[in-house]
Amino acid sequence: TRKPEGVIAVLQDITEQQRLEEMRKEFVANVSHELRTPLTSIKSYSETLLDGALDDRETAEQFLAVINTEADRMTRLIRDLLQLSRLDNQQTQWNFEKMSLVELIKNTVERMKIEVDSRRQNIECFVVSEVPEIEGDYGRLEQVAFNIIGNAVKYTPEGGNITVYVGRMRNGVYFKVADTGIGIPEENIDRIFERFYRVDKARSREMGGTGLGLSIAKEIVEAHNGTIDIKSKVGVGTEVTVRLPVSRTNL
Ligand code: ADP
Repeated sequence: TRKPEGVIAVLQDITEQQRLEEMRKEFVANVSHELRTPLTSIKSYSETLLDGALDDRETAEQFLAVINTEADRMTRLIRDLLQLSRLDNQQTQWNFEKMSLVELIKNTVERMKIEVDSRRQNIECFVVSEVPEIEGDYGRLEQVAFNIIGNAVKYTPEGGNITVYVGRMRNGVYFKVADTGIGIPEENIDRIFERFYRVDKARSREMGGTGLGLSIAKEIVEAHNGTIDIKSKVGVGTEVTVRLPVSRTNL
């Protein structure tokens, strides 16, 4: 065998500004695409109705149901986009107060019960130690928990298990959501917090996802000086851990 005769080096010099510009363009392209998809269905179903399908009551109801679902999807998307934009522009009005993470998690788990039952899944919540109160924005942290537990429900097949732990650590508290779901391939984990990044677009859409839930969660957790981590194994399950300091300013 012959020895290699040379080495090819590829040097990339993309300045931070160029990188941000690329990201901005990609984001606009994503938003446009995400909005066009439901709009295309709304348009074609309403046209078919106007072209005569309205006369068949059963068909008409089916078509209207699709239009309604697609309009809901657009509403969710716009709501998430507005929220991200407020977070980006530092226009979010934070409401930091003393609050109990245990109470928040228990309430969120309770709110998920109907969805969980309809998918014949099990959800359990364990408080593993005495958990101190923290300084946090209850409503926004509730949204974080709702997005993460909601994902566990969405990406776990019928009959699967979801376990939520709440506990304390040095100077802080954490909650962990573990599921026995489809998991995330190793090569995708790093990108999972990016806006609109999904492992399986079709599945996410089918479950009503916008692809923005985890990026919003990350922004909110970071505004609390906390961290969010994901561990996952395909076909085994996923574990998402959120760690929050007791006080956001006094680390
Ligand atoms: P989506 O609205 O698509 O659920 P998210 O930002 O909440 O958007 O999540 C991004 C992607 O991460 C999802 O589309 C899915 O591919 C993956 N994901 C998130 N949570 C889980 C989980 N518990 N199990 C498997 N995949 C997950």
